[in-house]
Amino acid sequence: MSEPAQSPSINGLKYRRVLLKVSGEVLMGSQQYGIDMDTVAAVAEEIAAVSRAGVELCLVIGGGNIFRGLSGAAKGMDRGSADYMGMLATVMNALAMQNALERLGVDTRVQSAIRMDSVCEPFIKRRADRHLEKGRVVIFAAGTGLPYFTTDTTAALRAAEMGCDALMKGTSVDGIYTADPKTDPTAKRYDKISYQEVLAQNLRVMDGSAVSLMRDNRIPIVVFSIKKRGGILEVLAGEGVHTVVSD
Ligand code: UDP
Repeated sequence: MSEPAQSPSINGLKYRRVLLKVSGEVLMGSQQYGIDMDTVAAVAEEIAAVSRAGVELCLVIGGGNIFRGLSGAAKGMDRGSADYMGMLATVMNALAMQNALERLGVDTRVQSAIRMDSVCEPFIKRRADRHLEKGRVVIFAAGTGLPYFTTDTTAALRAAEMGCDALMKGTSVDGIYTADPKTDPTAKRYDKISYQEVLAQNLRVMDGSAVSLMRDNRIPIVVFSIKKRGGILEVLAGEGVHTVVSD
């Protein structure tokens, strides 16, 4: 198959509009739980650099550092209620990131899939477009607004809806490996891999539903380490260590 149509690149960067997914766990820093403000500030600096480079940037932040629906359900909670708690956790992370970005002078808007008018805007696609055109970073909070989903699926959904050129997943590992590199020293990193291989080999980089949605919409998934300073910009320039998932 031919390469998916992409918007023209800017400033030598490969993608013009990007959705960046950051898992909640990244914001814990070395803590076991919650939000480590120094870590949020460090991630915000990376994001600010991307925004200043002229990339239209959408953000989805997970909630796993505070609450995951599945762990609540495992302890006897109703799954729906537990998932709503997880979605609320993503709103806390979104507000923390909004604050850190605005302290760096980056204009942002938080849009939530669950209405909470005194806290942030509701998700409105056309309004989000306008924010992006004005150079604001838009943070999509509260997941899809639906239980039984994850923020990976949210990231894929918003990437498709917002017409992003790529879904970038910032993790603590610098790409997709044949096995878990933390436990298997023979694990090898893929530079490129197809959606189909990721699904068939059950490589746990993102939920299957998120990968399928990106395959159906032909949006590449770029997996890289968010812990490396300057890493996002390097990857956007097509350099640095990362894995691209495409056809
Ligand atoms: N969640 C949900 N629907 C969504 C997105 C998230 O119910 O559309 C809940 C779910 O309980 C999930 C929690 O929010 O466990 C936090 O999201 P996730 O586990 O994806 O965060 P991450 O692993 O990226 O930190």
